[in-house]
Amino acid sequence: MKRRKCACCKRVSSQFIEDRGQVICVDCGLRIGEALMENLKTSRATELAESLKAYTDPASPEYDPDFDEEIRELRPDWFCHEMN
Ligand SMILES: [Zn+2]
Repeated sequence: MKRRKCACCKRVSSQFIEDRGQVICVDCGLRIGEALMENLKTSRATELAESLKAYTDPASPEYDPDFDEEIRELRPDWFCHEMN
């Protein structure tokens, strides 16, 4: 997997997600997503939720099994409510 620089914290990571054309690491994705999940009425939250879902849904063309495994380990609770 390619390593890319996070647009948020500038850390180089092989695990990243794309958020509106920017590459962000899983940690930042989680942090941003967590804040956004508290206000799911914003369109930004919907977009990020859709990005996360695309990478963790085996039916999605963007599905990334490594990312899926990592994010489920980091935040299993996310997959009990918002992502089902
Ligand atoms: Zn980051």
